[in-house]
Amino acid sequence: MIDTFVQYINDHEDWLMGRILKYAQQRDYTKYTSTLKEAWRLSISGLSKSLVELIEVRGDDIELGPKEDYTRDPATQFGIIEARRHRERGISLEMFLGLMKYYHQSYQDLIKESQFTTSEKQYFVNLINRFFDRVEISFCTAWASSEQDQLVDELQDRNRQMTNEKNKYLTIFESLSEPVFIVSPDGNIENMNLAASRMFNINSVSGSGYYTDNEEKLVFAEEFPWLAESYAAFVWGKEQKQQGERTLNVNEQYFHISFSRSLDISGKFSEIIVIIADITKRKKLENDLEKLATTDPLTGAKNRRAFLQLFEQELDRSQRYDHKFSLLMLDIDHFKNINDTHGHDSGDKVLKLLVAEIYGILRATDMFGRWGGEEFIILLPESNIHQASTVAERLRGNLSKIEVSTDDGALIKFTVSIGMTVVENNDVLLDGIIKKADQALYLAKDQGRNRVVIL
Ligand code: GH3
Ligand code: MG
Ligand code: MG
Repeated sequence: MIDTFVQYINDHEDWLMGRILKYAQQRDYTKYTSTLKEAWRLSISGLSKSLVELIEVRGDDIELGPKEDYTRDPATQFGIIEARRHRERGISLEMFLGLMKYYHQSYQDLIKESQFTTSEKQYFVNLINRFFDRVEISFCTAWASSEQDQLVDELQDRNRQMTNEKNKYLTIFESLSEPVFIVSPDGNIENMNLAASRMFNINSVSGSGYYTDNEEKLVFAEEFPWLAESYAAFVWGKEQKQQGERTLNVNEQYFHISFSRSLDISGKFSEIIVIIADITKRKKLENDLEKLATTDPLTGAKNRRAFLQLFEQELDRSQRYDHKFSLLMLDIDHFKNINDTHGHDSGDKVLKLLVAEIYGILRATDMFGRWGGEEFIILLPESNIHQASTVAERLRGNLSKIEVSTDDGALIKFTVSIGMTVVENNDVLLDGIIKKADQALYLAKDQGRNRVVIL
Protein backbone atom coordinates (compact mmCIF):
# COMPACT_ATOMS: atom_id res chain seq x y z
CA MET A 1 0.00 0.00 0.00
CA ILE A 2 2.90 2.30 0.86
CA ASP A 3 4.39 1.64 -2.59
CA THR A 4 1.12 2.67 -4.22
CA PHE A 5 1.19 5.91 -2.27
CA VAL A 6 4.81 6.71 -3.19
CA GLN A 7 4.14 5.92 -6.83
CA TYR A 8 1.02 8.10 -6.84
CA ILE A 9 2.86 11.08 -5.36
CA ASN A 10 5.73 10.74 -7.83
CA ASP A 11 3.36 10.46 -10.78
CA HIS A 12 1.48 13.64 -9.94
CA GLU A 13 4.17 16.29 -9.82
CA ASP A 14 2.48 18.40 -12.52
CA TRP A 15 -0.90 18.12 -10.85
CA LEU A 16 0.54 19.25 -7.52
CA MET A 17 2.35 22.12 -9.20
CA GLY A 18 -0.85 23.28 -10.85
CA ARG A 19 -2.76 23.12 -7.59
CA ILE A 20 -0.27 24.98 -5.41
CA LEU A 21 0.10 27.66 -8.09
CA LYS A 22 -3.67 28.09 -8.16
CA TYR A 23 -3.83 28.51 -4.39
CA ALA A 24 -0.85 30.88 -4.37
CA GLN A 25 -2.48 33.03 -7.04
CA GLN A 26 -5.88 33.01 -5.32
CA ARG A 27 -4.37 33.94 -2.00
CA ASP A 28 -1.97 36.56 -3.39
CA TYR A 29 1.24 34.78 -2.40
CA THR A 30 2.60 35.02 -5.94
CA LYS A 31 3.53 38.66 -5.30
CA TYR A 32 6.36 37.36 -3.14
CA THR A 33 7.26 34.19 -4.95
CA SER A 34 9.34 33.14 -7.91
CA THR A 35 8.11 34.02 -11.37
CA LEU A 36 9.34 31.02 -13.32
CA LYS A 37 7.68 27.63 -13.63
CA GLU A 38 10.83 25.65 -12.85
CA ALA A 39 11.11 27.18 -9.36
CA TRP A 40 7.65 25.85 -8.50
CA ARG A 41 8.50 22.43 -9.85
CA LEU A 42 11.62 22.36 -7.65
CA SER A 43 9.57 23.11 -4.52
CA ILE A 44 7.10 20.32 -5.29
CA SER A 45 9.75 17.80 -6.23
CA GLY A 46 11.75 18.73 -3.07
CA LEU A 47 8.71 18.19 -0.87
CA SER A 48 7.74 14.92 -2.57
CA LYS A 49 11.29 13.65 -2.39
CA SER A 50 11.61 14.21 1.35
CA LEU A 51 8.14 12.78 1.96
CA VAL A 52 9.15 9.62 0.10
CA GLU A 53 12.50 9.50 1.91
CA LEU A 54 10.81 9.85 5.27
CA ILE A 55 8.58 6.90 4.45
CA GLU A 56 11.52 4.86 3.18
CA VAL A 57 13.48 5.52 6.39
CA ARG A 58 10.64 5.13 8.85
CA GLY A 59 8.02 3.02 7.12
CA ASP A 60 4.56 4.27 7.97
CA ASP A 61 5.50 4.93 11.58
CA ILE A 62 5.78 8.70 11.30
CA GLU A 63 3.63 9.72 14.23
CA LEU A 64 5.05 12.36 16.53
CA GLY A 65 6.24 11.87 20.12
CA PRO A 66 7.61 14.01 22.98
CA LYS A 67 11.09 12.51 22.75
CA GLU A 68 11.35 12.70 19.01
CA ASP A 69 14.87 13.17 17.56
CA TYR A 70 14.20 15.29 14.56
CA THR A 71 17.83 15.77 13.60
CA ARG A 72 18.09 12.73 11.33
CA ASP A 73 14.64 13.09 9.87
CA PRO A 74 14.51 13.75 6.06
CA ALA A 75 11.48 15.97 6.62
CA THR A 76 13.56 18.02 9.08
CA GLN A 77 16.50 18.36 6.71
CA PHE A 78 14.19 19.69 4.05
CA GLY A 79 12.41 22.01 6.49
CA ILE A 80 15.66 23.52 7.76
CA ILE A 81 17.03 24.19 4.27
CA GLU A 82 13.75 25.71 3.10
CA ALA A 83 13.51 27.88 6.25
CA ARG A 84 16.98 29.30 5.57
CA ARG A 85 16.27 29.92 1.90
CA HIS A 86 13.12 31.84 2.60
CA ARG A 87 14.63 33.85 5.50
CA GLU A 88 17.46 34.89 3.21
CA ARG A 89 14.98 36.25 0.73
CA GLY A 90 13.37 38.33 3.41
CA ILE A 91 10.24 36.19 3.70
CA SER A 92 8.75 36.23 7.21
CA LEU A 93 7.90 33.11 9.19
CA GLU A 94 4.19 33.98 9.06
CA MET A 95 4.25 34.28 5.33
CA PHE A 96 6.23 31.08 4.80
CA LEU A 97 4.09 29.11 7.23
CA GLY A 98 0.95 30.38 5.52
CA LEU A 99 2.13 29.37 2.05
CA MET A 100 3.22 26.01 3.47
CA LYS A 101 -0.39 25.40 4.57
CA TYR A 102 -1.42 25.60 0.93
CA TYR A 103 1.33 23.19 -0.11
CA HIS A 104 -0.04 20.87 2.55
CA GLN A 105 -3.56 21.32 1.27
CA SER A 106 -2.50 20.61 -2.31
CA TYR A 107 -1.15 17.20 -1.29
CA GLN A 108 -4.33 16.50 0.69
CA ASP A 109 -6.43 17.50 -2.33
CA LEU A 110 -4.48 15.09 -4.50
CA ILE A 111 -5.46 12.17 -2.32
CA LYS A 112 -9.03 13.36 -1.66
CA GLU A 113 -9.73 13.78 -5.35
CA SER A 114 -8.22 10.38 -6.20
CA GLN A 115 -9.97 7.03 -6.85
CA PHE A 116 -8.61 5.39 -3.70
CA THR A 117 -11.03 3.79 -1.22
CA THR A 118 -12.15 5.76 1.83
CA SER A 119 -9.88 3.86 4.17
CA GLU A 120 -6.90 4.20 1.81
CA LYS A 121 -7.56 7.91 1.55
CA GLN A 122 -7.67 8.26 5.31
CA TYR A 123 -4.42 6.39 5.67
CA PHE A 124 -2.63 8.41 2.95
CA VAL A 125 -3.90 11.76 4.19
CA ASN A 126 -2.62 10.90 7.64
CA LEU A 127 0.86 10.21 6.20
CA ILE A 128 0.76 13.58 4.49
CA ASN A 129 -0.41 15.36 7.64
CA ARG A 130 2.35 13.91 9.77
CA PHE A 131 4.97 14.71 7.15
CA PHE A 132 3.92 18.35 6.99
CA ASP A 133 3.76 18.52 10.79
CA ARG A 134 7.37 17.39 10.86
CA VAL A 135 8.46 19.91 8.26
CA GLU A 136 6.72 22.70 10.15
CA ILE A 137 8.15 21.73 13.53
CA SER A 138 11.63 21.61 12.08
CA PHE A 139 11.60 24.92 10.31
CA CYS A 140 9.92 26.71 13.21
CA THR A 141 12.64 25.32 15.45
CA ALA A 142 15.36 26.31 13.00
CA TRP A 143 13.86 29.77 12.60
CA ALA A 144 13.47 30.35 16.33
CA SER A 145 16.98 29.22 17.17
CA SER A 146 18.70 31.69 14.84
CA GLU A 147 20.51 34.54 16.59
CA GLN A 148 19.89 38.11 15.49
CA ASP A 149 23.52 38.60 14.32
CA GLN A 150 23.41 35.42 12.39
CA LEU A 151 20.22 36.53 10.66
CA VAL A 152 21.76 39.86 9.65
CA ASP A 153 24.88 38.12 8.32
CA GLU A 154 22.73 35.73 6.42
CA LEU A 155 20.72 38.55 4.87
CA GLN A 156 23.79 40.59 3.94
CA ASP A 157 25.41 37.59 2.38
CA ARG A 158 22.34 36.83 0.35
CA ASN A 159 21.97 40.49 -0.60
CA ARG A 160 25.46 40.48 -2.08
CA GLN A 161 24.69 37.36 -4.05
CA MET A 162 21.46 38.83 -5.34
CA THR A 163 23.14 42.08 -6.38
CA ASN A 164 25.73 40.10 -8.29
CA GLU A 165 23.06 38.03 -9.90
CA LYS A 166 21.11 41.13 -10.89
CA ASN A 167 24.28 42.70 -12.32
CA LYS A 168 25.00 39.59 -14.30
CA TYR A 169 21.59 39.61 -16.00
CA LEU A 170 21.60 43.38 -16.42
CA THR A 171 24.98 43.16 -18.14
CA ILE A 172 23.75 40.40 -20.42
CA PHE A 173 20.64 42.46 -21.24
CA GLU A 174 22.78 45.50 -22.05
CA SER A 175 25.20 43.41 -24.13
CA LEU A 176 22.56 41.88 -26.42
CA SER A 177 23.26 43.03 -29.94
CA GLU A 178 19.56 43.24 -30.85
CA PRO A 179 17.53 46.20 -29.59
CA VAL A 180 15.22 44.98 -26.84
CA PHE A 181 12.39 47.03 -25.36
CA ILE A 182 10.39 46.07 -22.27
CA VAL A 183 6.97 47.60 -22.75
CA SER A 184 4.16 47.70 -20.20
CA PRO A 185 0.68 46.62 -21.35
CA ASP A 186 -0.43 50.25 -21.22
CA GLY A 187 2.29 51.09 -23.71
CA ASN A 188 5.15 52.69 -21.77
CA ILE A 189 8.69 51.66 -22.51
CA GLU A 190 9.81 50.45 -19.09
CA ASN A 191 13.34 49.43 -20.06
CA MET A 192 15.50 49.18 -23.09
CA ASN A 193 18.97 47.87 -23.61
CA LEU A 194 21.93 49.72 -25.04
CA ALA A 195 21.28 48.60 -28.62
CA ALA A 196 17.70 49.86 -28.28
CA SER A 197 18.65 53.27 -26.91
CA ARG A 198 21.12 53.63 -29.78
CA MET A 199 18.14 53.49 -32.13
CA PHE A 200 17.16 56.85 -30.66
CA ASN A 201 20.73 58.10 -30.38
CA ILE A 202 20.08 58.68 -26.71
CA ASN A 203 21.55 57.25 -23.53
CA SER A 204 24.27 55.60 -25.49
CA VAL A 205 26.17 54.58 -22.37
CA SER A 206 25.68 51.05 -21.15
CA GLY A 207 23.50 50.88 -18.06
CA SER A 208 22.18 54.43 -18.33
CA GLY A 209 18.66 53.13 -18.86
CA TYR A 210 18.91 51.32 -15.55
CA TYR A 211 20.92 53.64 -13.32
CA THR A 212 19.58 57.01 -14.42
CA ASP A 213 16.39 57.98 -12.67
CA ASN A 214 14.53 59.15 -15.69
CA GLU A 215 10.97 59.84 -14.62
CA GLU A 216 9.82 60.62 -18.12
CA LYS A 217 8.64 57.42 -19.77
CA LEU A 218 8.71 56.99 -23.52
CA VAL A 219 5.47 55.83 -25.08
CA PHE A 220 6.04 52.92 -27.42
CA ALA A 221 3.31 53.87 -29.91
CA GLU A 222 4.69 57.41 -30.17
CA GLU A 223 8.24 56.27 -30.74
CA PHE A 224 7.19 53.56 -33.19
CA PRO A 225 3.92 54.73 -34.78
CA TRP A 226 4.37 52.16 -37.55
CA LEU A 227 4.15 49.38 -34.97
CA ALA A 228 1.40 50.86 -32.80
CA GLU A 229 -1.41 48.88 -34.39
CA SER A 230 0.32 45.51 -34.34
CA TYR A 231 1.46 46.10 -30.76
CA ALA A 232 -2.12 46.81 -29.65
CA ALA A 233 -3.36 43.73 -31.49
CA PHE A 234 -0.72 41.60 -29.76
CA VAL A 235 -1.59 42.99 -26.31
CA TRP A 236 -5.25 42.09 -26.81
CA GLY A 237 -4.49 38.74 -28.40
CA LYS A 238 -3.60 35.48 -26.76
CA GLU A 239 -0.42 34.48 -28.54
CA GLN A 240 2.72 33.95 -26.49
CA LYS A 241 4.95 35.14 -29.29
CA GLN A 242 4.54 36.85 -32.63
CA GLN A 243 7.14 37.59 -35.25
CA GLY A 244 7.18 39.31 -38.59
CA GLU A 245 9.10 41.46 -40.99
CA ARG A 246 8.33 45.09 -41.71
CA THR A 247 9.60 47.49 -44.32
CA LEU A 248 9.99 51.17 -43.69
CA ASN A 249 9.85 52.73 -47.10
CA VAL A 250 11.18 56.08 -45.91
CA ASN A 251 14.81 54.95 -45.77
CA GLU A 252 14.23 51.56 -47.35
CA GLN A 253 14.87 49.91 -44.02
CA TYR A 254 13.76 46.42 -43.09
CA PHE A 255 13.12 45.23 -39.54
CA HIS A 256 12.45 41.90 -37.95
CA ILE A 257 9.91 42.49 -35.21
CA SER A 258 9.27 40.13 -32.35
CA PHE A 259 6.68 40.56 -29.61
CA SER A 260 6.70 38.09 -26.75
CA ARG A 261 4.94 37.87 -23.45
CA SER A 262 6.85 37.45 -20.22
CA LEU A 263 6.95 33.84 -18.99
CA ASP A 264 6.17 34.98 -15.45
CA ILE A 265 3.49 32.67 -14.06
CA SER A 266 3.09 34.66 -10.87
CA GLY A 267 1.48 37.55 -12.75
CA LYS A 268 3.89 40.19 -11.35
CA PHE A 269 5.50 41.06 -14.65
CA SER A 270 3.04 41.49 -17.47
CA GLU A 271 5.44 43.48 -19.65
CA ILE A 272 5.89 42.60 -23.27
CA ILE A 273 9.31 42.13 -24.76
CA VAL A 274 9.73 43.82 -28.11
CA ILE A 275 12.76 43.20 -30.29
CA ILE A 276 13.22 45.45 -33.30
CA ALA A 277 16.17 44.13 -35.26
CA ASP A 278 17.42 46.02 -38.28
CA ILE A 279 17.77 43.43 -41.05
CA THR A 280 18.24 45.91 -43.92
CA LYS A 281 21.64 44.50 -44.87
CA ARG A 282 20.41 40.91 -44.96
CA LYS A 283 17.24 41.90 -46.83
CA LYS A 284 19.20 43.83 -49.47
CA LEU A 285 21.48 40.83 -49.95
CA GLU A 286 18.43 38.61 -50.32
CA ASN A 287 16.96 40.98 -52.90
CA ASP A 288 20.26 41.07 -54.79
CA LEU A 289 20.38 37.29 -54.75
CA GLU A 290 16.78 37.05 -55.94
CA LYS A 291 17.62 39.45 -58.77
CA LEU A 292 20.74 37.48 -59.69
CA ALA A 293 18.75 34.28 -59.78
CA THR A 294 16.03 35.66 -62.03
CA THR A 295 17.80 38.14 -64.29
CA ASP A 296 20.03 37.75 -67.29
CA PRO A 297 23.16 39.72 -66.36
CA LEU A 298 23.98 40.95 -69.88
CA THR A 299 20.64 42.44 -70.89
CA GLY A 300 18.75 42.79 -67.59
CA ALA A 301 15.85 40.80 -69.07
CA LYS A 302 14.27 37.95 -67.10
CA ASN A 303 16.07 34.66 -67.53
CA ARG A 304 14.44 31.47 -68.76
CA ARG A 305 13.64 30.19 -65.26
CA ALA A 306 11.97 33.42 -64.16
CA PHE A 307 9.99 33.66 -67.38
CA LEU A 308 8.76 30.09 -67.06
CA GLN A 309 7.52 30.86 -63.56
CA LEU A 310 5.47 33.79 -64.82
CA PHE A 311 4.30 31.74 -67.78
CA GLU A 312 2.99 28.97 -65.51
CA GLN A 313 1.05 31.47 -63.42
CA GLU A 314 -0.37 33.14 -66.50
CA LEU A 315 -1.36 29.82 -68.08
CA ASP A 316 -3.16 28.89 -64.90
CA ARG A 317 -4.93 32.25 -64.76
CA SER A 318 -6.03 32.26 -68.41
CA GLN A 319 -7.34 28.73 -68.16
CA ARG A 320 -9.32 29.62 -65.05
CA TYR A 321 -10.87 32.71 -66.63
CA ASP A 322 -10.98 31.32 -70.16
CA HIS A 323 -8.76 34.06 -71.59
CA LYS A 324 -6.75 33.89 -74.80
CA PHE A 325 -3.08 34.76 -74.92
CA SER A 326 -0.23 34.63 -77.43
CA LEU A 327 3.29 33.37 -77.20
CA LEU A 328 6.09 34.69 -79.43
CA MET A 329 9.57 33.31 -80.03
CA LEU A 330 11.93 35.90 -81.45
CA ASP A 331 15.38 35.13 -82.88
CA ILE A 332 17.97 37.43 -84.47
CA ASP A 333 18.76 36.55 -88.05
CA HIS A 334 22.34 35.63 -88.91
CA PHE A 335 23.55 36.78 -85.52
CA LYS A 336 26.63 34.62 -85.86
CA ASN A 337 27.72 36.86 -88.74
CA ILE A 338 27.54 39.95 -86.51
CA ASN A 339 29.81 38.29 -83.97
CA ASP A 340 32.18 37.06 -86.65
CA THR A 341 32.39 40.39 -88.48
CA HIS A 342 32.33 42.92 -85.62
CA GLY A 343 33.39 40.90 -82.59
CA HIS A 344 31.59 39.45 -79.59
CA ASP A 345 31.34 42.82 -77.76
CA SER A 346 29.42 44.33 -80.63
CA GLY A 347 27.16 41.28 -80.58
CA ASP A 348 26.54 41.97 -76.88
CA LYS A 349 25.71 45.57 -77.64
CA VAL A 350 23.13 44.44 -80.20
CA LEU A 351 21.51 42.18 -77.61
CA LYS A 352 21.31 45.00 -75.06
CA LEU A 353 19.82 47.53 -77.45
CA LEU A 354 17.35 44.97 -78.77
CA VAL A 355 16.13 44.27 -75.22
CA ALA A 356 15.75 47.98 -74.46
CA GLU A 357 13.76 48.45 -77.67
CA ILE A 358 11.48 45.48 -76.91
CA TYR A 359 10.74 46.87 -73.43
CA GLY A 360 9.74 50.14 -75.11
CA ILE A 361 7.24 48.36 -77.36
CA LEU A 362 5.62 45.96 -74.86
CA ARG A 363 2.95 46.86 -72.31
CA ALA A 364 3.68 46.58 -68.58
CA THR A 365 1.48 43.48 -68.37
CA ASP A 366 3.30 41.65 -71.17
CA MET A 367 5.93 39.12 -70.15
CA PHE A 368 9.33 38.94 -71.69
CA GLY A 369 12.52 36.96 -71.14
CA ARG A 370 15.79 35.86 -72.71
CA TRP A 371 15.24 32.25 -73.74
CA GLY A 372 18.95 31.74 -74.48
CA GLY A 373 21.62 33.09 -76.86
CA GLU A 374 19.95 35.49 -79.28
CA GLU A 375 16.51 34.04 -78.77
CA PHE A 376 13.79 35.78 -76.78
CA ILE A 377 10.34 34.80 -75.60
CA ILE A 378 7.28 37.03 -75.19
CA LEU A 379 3.85 36.38 -73.73
CA LEU A 380 1.00 38.75 -74.57
CA PRO A 381 -1.84 38.13 -72.10
CA GLU A 382 -5.44 38.55 -73.18
CA SER A 383 -4.63 39.05 -76.84
CA ASN A 384 -6.35 37.61 -79.88
CA ILE A 385 -4.63 36.77 -83.14
CA HIS A 386 -5.19 40.22 -84.60
CA GLN A 387 -3.79 42.14 -81.64
CA ALA A 388 -0.87 39.74 -81.28
CA SER A 389 0.17 39.91 -84.94
CA THR A 390 0.08 43.70 -84.76
CA VAL A 391 2.53 43.60 -81.85
CA ALA A 392 4.70 40.98 -83.63
CA GLU A 393 4.84 43.08 -86.80
CA ARG A 394 5.66 46.19 -84.80
CA LEU A 395 8.50 44.33 -83.07
CA ARG A 396 9.88 43.05 -86.37
CA GLY A 397 9.60 46.50 -88.00
CA ASN A 398 11.01 48.56 -85.13
CA LEU A 399 13.90 46.21 -84.40
CA SER A 400 15.00 46.26 -88.01
CA LYS A 401 15.42 50.05 -87.75
CA ILE A 402 17.93 49.86 -84.89
CA GLU A 403 21.42 51.00 -85.80
CA VAL A 404 24.21 49.81 -83.56
CA SER A 405 27.53 51.64 -83.78
CA THR A 406 30.59 49.49 -83.18
CA ASP A 407 33.96 50.49 -81.71
CA ASP A 408 35.53 50.38 -85.19
CA GLY A 409 33.02 52.95 -86.45
CA ALA A 410 30.71 50.61 -88.35
CA LEU A 411 26.91 50.69 -88.12
CA ILE A 412 25.16 47.34 -87.66
CA LYS A 413 21.60 46.68 -88.71
CA PHE A 414 19.83 43.39 -88.26
CA THR A 415 16.48 41.68 -88.63
CA VAL A 416 14.54 39.22 -86.54
CA SER A 417 12.29 36.24 -87.22
CA ILE A 418 9.25 35.63 -85.05
CA GLY A 419 7.24 32.45 -84.47
CA MET A 420 3.87 33.02 -82.88
CA THR A 421 1.00 30.97 -81.57
CA VAL A 422 -2.32 32.05 -80.08
CA VAL A 423 -3.59 29.92 -77.21
CA GLU A 424 -7.37 29.68 -77.24
CA ASN A 425 -7.76 26.10 -76.21
CA ASN A 426 -8.23 25.44 -72.53
CA ASP A 427 -6.40 22.19 -72.11
CA VAL A 428 -3.00 22.82 -73.67
CA LEU A 429 0.24 22.19 -71.84
CA LEU A 430 3.03 24.69 -71.40
CA ASP A 431 5.59 22.55 -73.24
CA GLY A 432 3.22 22.13 -76.17
CA ILE A 433 2.71 25.88 -76.51
CA ILE A 434 6.44 26.56 -76.55
CA LYS A 435 6.98 23.82 -79.07
CA LYS A 436 4.38 25.31 -81.39
CA ALA A 437 5.93 28.80 -81.22
CA ASP A 438 9.30 27.17 -81.88
CA GLN A 439 7.97 25.40 -84.97
CA ALA A 440 6.53 28.70 -86.20
CA LEU A 441 9.95 30.32 -85.71
CA TYR A 442 11.60 27.48 -87.63
CA LEU A 443 9.18 28.07 -90.50
CA ALA A 444 9.92 31.81 -90.46
CA LYS A 445 13.63 31.03 -90.79
CA ASP A 446 12.93 28.47 -93.48
CA GLN A 447 10.79 30.86 -95.49
CA GLY A 448 13.65 33.37 -95.68
CA ARG A 449 13.80 35.13 -92.25
CA ASN A 450 12.75 38.70 -91.30
CA ARG A 451 9.11 37.65 -91.00
CA VAL A 452 6.36 36.59 -88.60
CA VAL A 453 4.82 33.11 -88.89
CA ILE A 454 1.67 32.19 -87.01
CA LEU A 455 0.85 28.59 -86.14
P1 GH3 B 1 19.80 32.18 -87.70
O1 GH3 B 1 19.40 33.29 -88.54
O2 GH3 B 1 19.51 30.85 -88.23
O3 GH3 B 1 19.21 32.33 -86.31
O4 GH3 B 1 21.36 32.27 -87.56
P2 GH3 B 1 22.21 32.72 -86.31
O5 GH3 B 1 23.58 32.98 -86.74
O6 GH3 B 1 21.52 33.85 -85.62
O7 GH3 B 1 22.09 31.48 -85.38
P3 GH3 B 1 23.16 30.55 -84.73
O8 GH3 B 1 22.39 29.68 -83.76
O9 GH3 B 1 23.97 29.86 -85.75
O10 GH3 B 1 24.14 31.48 -83.94
C1 GH3 B 1 23.77 32.12 -82.72
C2 GH3 B 1 25.01 32.80 -82.25
O11 GH3 B 1 24.72 33.61 -81.11
C3 GH3 B 1 26.06 31.83 -81.82
C4 GH3 B 1 26.52 32.34 -80.47
O12 GH3 B 1 27.90 32.46 -80.35
C5 GH3 B 1 25.90 33.73 -80.38
N1 GH3 B 1 25.62 34.11 -79.03
C6 GH3 B 1 24.88 33.43 -78.12
N2 GH3 B 1 24.85 34.14 -76.97
C7 GH3 B 1 25.58 35.27 -77.14
C8 GH3 B 1 25.92 36.39 -76.32
O13 GH3 B 1 25.54 36.49 -75.19
N3 GH3 B 1 26.69 37.37 -76.86
C9 GH3 B 1 27.12 37.29 -78.12
N4 GH3 B 1 27.87 38.28 -78.59
N5 GH3 B 1 26.86 36.25 -78.94
C10 GH3 B 1 26.08 35.25 -78.46
MG1 MG C 1 19.64 33.53 -84.79
MG1 MG D 1 19.10 31.11 -82.22
